[in-house]
Amino acid sequence: MQQFTFPVSYTEILERIDKIDPIQYATTRNFLDGAVTYLSPYISRGVINSQQVVESLLSKGYSIDSCKKIIQELAWREYFQRVWQHLEDDIFNDIRKRYQQILHTQLPVSLLKASTGIIAVDKGITALYEQGYMHNHIRMYTASITTNIGKAHWQIPSQWMYYHLLDGDIASNTCSWQWVAGTFSTKQYFCNQENINKYTGTFQENSYLDRSYDELPAMTVPQELSKSTSLQLKTSLPATPVPELDSSLPLLIYNSYNLDPLWHKEIAANRVLLLEPSHFNQYPVSEKVVEFIIGLSKNIPGLQVFTGEIKNIPGLQQFPAIFSKEHPAFKHYPGKKEERTWLFPEVTSFNNSFFSYWKKCEKLLMKNNTYFSMYTIKQKAG
Ligand SMILES: Cc1cc2nc3c(=O)[nH]c(=O)nc-3n(C[C@H](O)[C@H](O)[C@H](O)COP(=O)(O)OP(=O)(O)OC[C@H]3O[C@@H](n4cnc5c(N)ncnc54)[C@H](O)[C@@H]3O)c2cc1C
Repeated sequence: MQQFTFPVSYTEILERIDKIDPIQYATTRNFLDGAVTYLSPYISRGVINSQQVVESLLSKGYSIDSCKKIIQELAWREYFQRVWQHLEDDIFNDIRKRYQQILHTQLPVSLLKASTGIIAVDKGITALYEQGYMHNHIRMYTASITTNIGKAHWQIPSQWMYYHLLDGDIASNTCSWQWVAGTFSTKQYFCNQENINKYTGTFQENSYLDRSYDELPAMTVPQELSKSTSLQLKTSLPATPVPELDSSLPLLIYNSYNLDPLWHKEIAANRVLLLEPSHFNQYPVSEKVVEFIIGLSKNIPGLQVFTGEIKNIPGLQQFPAIFSKEHPAFKHYPGKKEERTWLFPEVTSFNNSFFSYWKKCEKLLMKNNTYFSMYTIKQKAG
């Protein structure tokens, strides 16, 4: 099995940014052993942001052109976040009309048991359980087998995957599953065994996917994918003391999507990592994910972890100011919601497809080769 490691120390995370080779990345990223960055758990959790990644590459002398593929990939996350901002809870339903009938709205048992019969996918699911990560192509294969071959609705399986991912990002996960299932794209995504073997280094033959692309849409559901079950997910949050807070200082609210050690680092403030049971009831995550979040929070000096609802923070009305970062899952926080750091802050519109969104981003890149450094200078000045 591939071994993935996700250290939680900020220094090691920055070292990981330093190791990116955007040229290798562009040509090998689709392969299981390609030069992918393994940065999504940190970007997703708001420890670092995509702008930091791009600026690090440009500061080493890589041209915008040689970084274009990685910038485009980073833009996918922003795109899905914009979709969530615009469509709100509608992203949890089919965004567009579906192409085919679904047979059930449960979880295929073979996902639970890593027994889909496709070797690369089963290994990928085992690694997901043990290590909390799955390569993008394996995610696509898993979603495609589940929805387009097994004819399950995408929603429950997407919750299953989200539960285990260290990089779980509600918008990216939900919209990517919909993209594969064809309810947020112009066609369903299919993969055959030849494609899987090519990108994963397996040599499997005679599986139910060992056919031409023309045959896949009309296939009957293979036995391996025919059993389904309901899904019960629960999050175990740590029991924590009520935080001790100084009501003369501002309150900074951190959460599972804002674990940025540099955020208002220079000011004296109350810093609370808020783990709201209501949030995790709605979007459950595994113990490994909770551990990871708490591990990452240790990079923030003076932070207190609090399992409880926002309204249970003592003296909430008394702080001179309350700050958090804007995020569709945390609209209910009081106080000022600061803008997240976007790669393309100007492109806020929700377009019908990623590629029409990307065209606008690309235009900005082409117009101004110093786009990113200009933005940093503006931010620093502001
Ligand atoms: C069914 C499915 C579910 C997914 N669920 C999630 C999820 O919950 N959280 C998540 O972060 N990604 C999700 N992805 C996207 C993608 O698989 C991961 O971001 C990527 O595999 C992370 O590994 P990496 O950092 O090594 O990727 P790299 O190839 O190194 O990519 C660089 C960066 O590009 C960004 N990126 C690329 N594609 C996407 C995308 N579709 N959505 C968001 N960011 C992207 C990530 O920030 C990633 O770190 C999903 C994809 C699919 C097909």
